[in-house]
Amino acid sequence: MLIESRAVAPFFKNGYILGCERTREAVVIDPGDEVDALLDVLKEHSLRAKYILLTHAHLDHITGVAAAKRALDVPVWLHRDDDFLYEGVVQQGMMFGLRVEPQPKVDHFYDDAQTLDFGQYTVSVHHTPGHCPGGVCLAVNGDPESNGPSVPGILIVGDTLFAGSIGRTDLPGGDSATLLKSIRDVLFRFPADTPVYSGHGEATTVGHEKRTNPFLR
Ligand SMILES: [Zn+2]
Ligand SMILES: [Zn+2]
Repeated sequence: MLIESRAVAPFFKNGYILGCERTREAVVIDPGDEVDALLDVLKEHSLRAKYILLTHAHLDHITGVAAAKRALDVPVWLHRDDDFLYEGVVQQGMMFGLRVEPQPKVDHFYDDAQTLDFGQYTVSVHHTPGHCPGGVCLAVNGDPESNGPSVPGILIVGDTLFAGSIGRTDLPGGDSATLLKSIRDVLFRFPADTPVYSGHGEATTVGHEKRTNPFLR
């Protein structure tokens, strides 16, 4: 699987492109202010985006949706419980003193056991509230063509879990007990060597966070 991330000021939030090397199908995850760099990644690798997938609807994760949708004309997916944040993006901007344009309507809300394919990969959507009500983590299977020991899948976790930290819970709809439960009951059930790609900062693994994350020991 091709995994690329980009981040720019002021939020340094990671936007992701996941691509299938064989079919060239891809998904765009959390396009924000770095959206032009994400669109460049698609071009550089001759990838065709199939979906825009959102882990949640905080400002920094959605300001590039309009530009991505204009360029790619593919459906936008979000969890229903974050639609109030998505529709309130202009007000979210005001809280940070930023002028933000309204974004195009979400096309689809994730079902309870939603799966979405791109090329030979399947994205499984897991509801992980706590940082916000409609936060989700996206699990993608490992390389289906690899021989020998099975390759772990990956997790894209938005702002639920970070290397050495966890998401903030002081924003509207946040709740720390709910967040810890989401991490323990959903993310920590994946194999220890599963790579974890967060909304901000460096990637980590499930096992490393289980062992060392001060919020979860
Ligand atoms: Zn967030
Ligand atoms: Zn964020």
